[in-house]
Amino acid sequence: MKALTISNLQKTYDNGHEALKGISLDVAEGDFFALLGPNGAGKSTTLGIVCSLVRKSAGKVSIFGVDIDQDFALAKQLIGVVPQEFNFSVFEKVEDIVLTAAGYQGLTQAQARPRTEQLLRDLGLWEKRKQQARMLSGGMKRRLMIARALVHNPKLLILDEPTAGVDIELRRSMWSFMQEINRQGTTIILTTHYLEEAENLCRNIAIIDKGEIVKNTSMKALLSEL
Ligand code: ADP
Ligand code: ADP
Repeated sequence: MKALTISNLQKTYDNGHEALKGISLDVAEGDFFALLGPNGAGKSTTLGIVCSLVRKSAGKVSIFGVDIDQDFALAKQLIGVVPQEFNFSVFEKVEDIVLTAAGYQGLTQAQARPRTEQLLRDLGLWEKRKQQARMLSGGMKRRLMIARALVHNPKLLILDEPTAGVDIELRRSMWSFMQEINRQGTTIILTTHYLEEAENLCRNIAIIDKGEIVKNTSMKALLSEL
């Protein structure tokens, strides 16, 4: 089963900029996959389309066999997204941010409470649960976004630069957390600037440059070429 299938995906922004020139890509169920490439290559655009945050110009995207054009709601249920920008209200309490997301994803109160507790504990945010999100450090805010993305137990977790600006110690602990989630069966796709991050975590990679896939291979094969 493919977690993600992208066929001939194109995106031209309203200003005429051709961000994706017809890319195709498969990610297998259970994979830990990295989308690599320089700034402006089209990584965020690709993930944005997969998450239905960005409208595509042409092409097809399926999540676990569900075409996003045919059953957008079902496709969305299968995905958890951690965007690059913090996008929660900083005046909301940490636990409320996760609980609200749980409600939005259709969990009952009885399901949402224990799920939120478990995620906040796993991500080292339990002590901060009653605080407003603005009191959190940058790294904690990022972990809060991960907790929120996982609340409905998605089959595919998508992270856009999950450890950007995070110090090395915290980066390591986020790595082991992501590895654990992957071991438990969640397919993970991330974008990263750090080759070391992809090297540590990912089994397969695609390199995108100027809106085109220039390489799509296993991490092992990539490393043997360097
Ligand atoms: P990456 O995530 O690899 O840095 P992006 O997908 O963010 O790349 O951007 C790909 C290209 O599309 C870049 O040249 C960027 O400037 C352009 N771009 C991104 N968003 C927009 C937008 N809303 N309008 C016009 N151009 C955009
Ligand atoms: P920690 O101590 O958990 O590593 P920091 O507060 O030192 O977190 O911030 C880590 C990084 O996150 C910093 O490099 C900073 O640039 C970035 N960061 C912090 N707050 C924000 C924010 N509101 N928006 C974007 N980036 C942020």
